Amino acid sequence: MSLINSIRPKPQSIAMICNGCMKEKSLLAWFGMTPLNQGLYCGKCWQERFKRLSNKQKNEWSFWKLKQEKINATK
Ligand SMILES: [Zn+2]
Repeated sequence: MSLINSIRPKPQSIAMICNGCMKEKSLLAWFGMTPLNQGLYCGKCWQERFKRLSNKQKNEWSFWKLKQEKINATK
């Protein structure tokens, strides 16, 4: 097993690997609110991280702000 690992070429830095689940994905999105969680994530992991943000942090994402403004407008 260790021999197989040693001859396997190392993944290149451009490989599309999700920072959360460490799986190879064809589409990744950048997430970078804090130095601790910044990186490229797949849709599922991205949303998981976004949910943990405070409302103030969420408002820094324009798509979220627009969504909230729409919700408030219908109240
Ligand atoms: Zn992921």
